[in-house]
Amino acid sequence: MDELNHRDFIIVGGGAAGFYAGIHFSKFNPNKSVLILEQSPSFLSKVKVSGGGRCNVTNYTLDPKDLVKNYPRGHKELLGPFYAYGPLDVISFFEEHGIPLKEEDKGRMFPVSNSSASIVNLLMELAQKQGVQLSPSTSVKSISKQGDYWKIGTNKKEYFAKNILIASGSSKAIWKQLSALEIPIVEPVPSLFTFKVDPHPMGALSGLSSEVEISIQTSDKKYISSRGPLLITHQGFSGPAVLECSAWGARSLADLNYQFELCINWLVDLSHQDVLERLMELKSNSGTKTMLNINEFNFPKRLWEYLVLSAGIQKGEQWAQLNKIQLVNLANQLNDTRIQVVGKSTFKEEFVSAGGVDLRSVNFKTMESKIHSGLYFAGEVLNIDAITGGYNFQNAWTTAYIASSALNN
Ligand SMILES: Cc1cc2nc3c(=O)[nH]c(=O)nc-3n(C[C@H](O)[C@H](O)[C@H](O)COP(=O)(O)OP(=O)(O)OC[C@H]3O[C@@H](n4cnc5c(N)ncnc54)[C@H](O)[C@@H]3O)c2cc1C
Repeated sequence: MDELNHRDFIIVGGGAAGFYAGIHFSKFNPNKSVLILEQSPSFLSKVKVSGGGRCNVTNYTLDPKDLVKNYPRGHKELLGPFYAYGPLDVISFFEEHGIPLKEEDKGRMFPVSNSSASIVNLLMELAQKQGVQLSPSTSVKSISKQGDYWKIGTNKKEYFAKNILIASGSSKAIWKQLSALEIPIVEPVPSLFTFKVDPHPMGALSGLSSEVEISIQTSDKKYISSRGPLLITHQGFSGPAVLECSAWGARSLADLNYQFELCINWLVDLSHQDVLERLMELKSNSGTKTMLNINEFNFPKRLWEYLVLSAGIQKGEQWAQLNKIQLVNLANQLNDTRIQVVGKSTFKEEFVSAGGVDLRSVNFKTMESKIHSGLYFAGEVLNIDAITGGYNFQNAWTTAYIASSALNN
């Protein structure tokens, strides 16, 4: 080992977590050297494409107890870290550096510029200004211990440091390296995906969105449900309700090989009995009017037609002509439309991996491995992921900050 390949702190991965850690480490320790190794020619590429090019930086959910509820994996472990460093700290960080954020629906925070480039540019500028060394096109091939030092083998040369941070996101190759170091890895599966349906009974309604509750029975006979807008697409279903369900069900839906029955409740505030009673009243009061002309529940016209026809009711039928079975069928459709899902598709705006470094092996006060000293983790490399809304980046910022401040001594 010589001066040239030794650093005080080496970071594997030049994404959100790697940069946030590098910038804070260099701020706390201006006289120490820090190097970020990034396999691609450019840095922060996910930040660049995030949030449809606008970067949903964080979420304005300030109480850590509420914030953690958005993390299917990591909710217990992130509580302490969020008390230490939460969304307000992130908002202040960006504001102090001239990038104000604004709040949109459901607390989602974006740069006022509406451009992820302002976030990328700021992180790049700060890293360069503070002397964080950046090594692009440098792929980490091996991580091993040599005496008190970590030895990092890359496609270019070997580096040594007493402290290293793994911020490699969902890199299968790095998880494999970590496994070889006896770090337990929870098998990664995708999260935040949309549902594919084939044949698609509602394909003709694509583009239509409605407020619903959806539920799925998982492989271990539990129910996962979520409320919110459901978007009908050409290939199946998307929208916040689906993405949230895909996050909470990431592991069990993988076990089902993404083949399951989706139940849609189009009338979230009415019980099955309420719906049936309303339909009976309509039958009594709207006699000669045709079914399709009275849209009691204010559905988009095409959706109402679909639900009526799916209940086995003909187009021209009048309310008075309906028998009890048809009314029950319609109530079932309204409260519990069942559709077979046959696969998943990628949600282009945001997707993450569920799985990664087993959280039981990490000390969340420092983000240091409990198995090896001097080995730290931040971001998506951990078995932490969230629903959409800026929560995934918040995990990256918080864990990176905690790791870098733990090294502030
Ligand atoms: C399209 C898209 C949009 C998204 N939008 C949002 C959003 O708006 N809000 C939000 O909260 N979340 C969003 N996410 C999720 C968010 O991007 C991730 O949770 C976040 O980037 C994780 O940060 P990270 O630093 O842990 O990992 P990453 O950002 O993935 O960074 C890891 C880096 O490590 C590098 N690396 C991997 N292996 C090696 C190796 N062997 N050697 C060297 N370098 C290596 C990678 O090339 C990468 O640059 C989005 C995700 C996607 C895919």
